[in-house]
Amino acid sequence: MPTIIFDQSATVFSADYHPERPARLTTTEAHLRDQHPDWAWIVPRLASEEEVLKVHHPKHLERLQQPVDFDADTPYYPRIEEHALRAAGAAIGSVDLALRGDQGFSLMRPPGHHATSTRAMGFCYLNSIAIAAHHALEAGCQRVAIWDFDAHHGNGTEDIVFGNNRIRFASIHQHPCYPGTGIASRGNVLNWPIPPRSPAERHTSAVQQALDQLIEFRPDIVLVSAGFDAYVKDPLTEMTLEQEDFASFGRWLKETGLPGAPILEGGYSNDLPILIDAFLTAWSD
Ligand SMILES: [Zn+2]
Repeated sequence: MPTIIFDQSATVFSADYHPERPARLTTTEAHLRDQHPDWAWIVPRLASEEEVLKVHHPKHLERLQQPVDFDADTPYYPRIEEHALRAAGAAIGSVDLALRGDQGFSLMRPPGHHATSTRAMGFCYLNSIAIAAHHALEAGCQRVAIWDFDAHHGNGTEDIVFGNNRIRFASIHQHPCYPGTGIASRGNVLNWPIPPRSPAERHTSAVQQALDQLIEFRPDIVLVSAGFDAYVKDPLTEMTLEQEDFASFGRWLKETGLPGAPILEGGYSNDLPILIDAFLTAWSD
């Protein structure tokens, strides 16, 4: 049974008409509590400054406190630094659960995989998955894999982990699409750009190949940037995945036999709750 890492305070910030909205979490919380009354829920801690500074520049933390929008997609919200620290803390919590043989999913916002070491962008402020990957290394893992099946390229994660020979990162994403990067693989970073409206089989086979190449790295843990915006009805992308495909991703993660630490990244359709449920149910079955 998975443990859901969640805090109500992740639902208090919003901007009018922004797709990255509190309802993503509130509807998922209601759905999962209703469908799985036996699943455990825990509240995350904040990531520490020391943990964040392993991947972000000190000036970036200062910038998060300045009440000025970061770009057209990425507003300043009151206390956004604290909210981002809490999402990063939840990703760390997912790693901690995994390393003691449990299964935890971070159901938090804001997402993180577009945040670079020095820049908030694409609805992301701190790179939670990269912070959690460094936490896993500190906790004794020799090698860490990051599997990013969000429909957008995890450019921030690539920026941060590129050249780190203890981390292998794989991203499968729509191209062309925001942010426009992730066209080629390099070193420890593996990219699978997928054209818009590709058949779901082509997309899922790339997601599977990505996981296979991560497993060849013999990681001690698989962190997952679990975005659900490659769904056919997602309003931000033009991909074709169905609910059952996210169940396949969960089943494949389980079949690796490795500790897994998934965190929510994107996913903007009203069906987000059933997509997350499909993934988690298959993973923990
Ligand atoms: Zn996305």
